[in-house]
Amino acid sequence: MTKAADVMVVTPHPDDAEFGVAGTVARWTREGRKVIYVVCSNGNKGTSDRSLKPDGLAEIREKEQMAAAKILGVQEVIFLRYPDQELEDTPSFRKEIVRLIRQYQPKIVVTSDPYRRYIWHRDHRIAGQVTLDAVFPYARDHLAYPDLLTEGLEPHKVEEILFWASEDINHRCDITDTFDLKIAALRCHESQIKEFDIPQLEDWLEERCRGMAEGEDFELAEGFHRAEIPW
Ligand SMILES: [Zn+2]
Repeated sequence: MTKAADVMVVTPHPDDAEFGVAGTVARWTREGRKVIYVVCSNGNKGTSDRSLKPDGLAEIREKEQMAAAKILGVQEVIFLRYPDQELEDTPSFRKEIVRLIRQYQPKIVVTSDPYRRYIWHRDHRIAGQVTLDAVFPYARDHLAYPDLLTEGLEPHKVEEILFWASEDINHRCDITDTFDLKIAALRCHESQIKEFDIPQLEDWLEERCRGMAEGEDFELAEGFHRAEIPW
């Protein structure tokens, strides 16, 4: 069975997508596009609070992610539940993403830029790389994972992929009208916000989004590296 989505967001942890693409997601869903989230890791190491147990934290973070997705109009959230800090570029992880791409057939896939240099969470690097490879060429080629084809999951060609947190931004989306929803969605990740040590989150983020929109005819933006899949 295939279930169509316009956009698939593959996020390493609960909260990364809200930092990276939430304003754009809110815009898309307002326009009537179907957006789904795939959350790779359960985030069970993301705390400095020694009283929190990993399982409890993972549970909290799923609830936070669901609340954020609801605010943004995301239709479905799929949790892969890999342990935090343990994502690896394996055939089975890649296959999971390929399976979802073939099931949902998105035109656009959004994820974390794997090529950000130096200090970058390993899960962000791995999730970005695995997603990029899943998009091209594995989801497209019928001889990749032949068992998926046997299951009836036909190859699918994604049209474009957007990477957040890129050092090579070539695409800016206007989020002036949805910035408030980005903030509200980010605020759902309470367990993380207290870890950020950013006292004025709204101001800090507004400043960043304003900088991202520089040279454009709108005020606030999210910036991406955008690549079209040519073949
Ligand atoms: Zn993360």
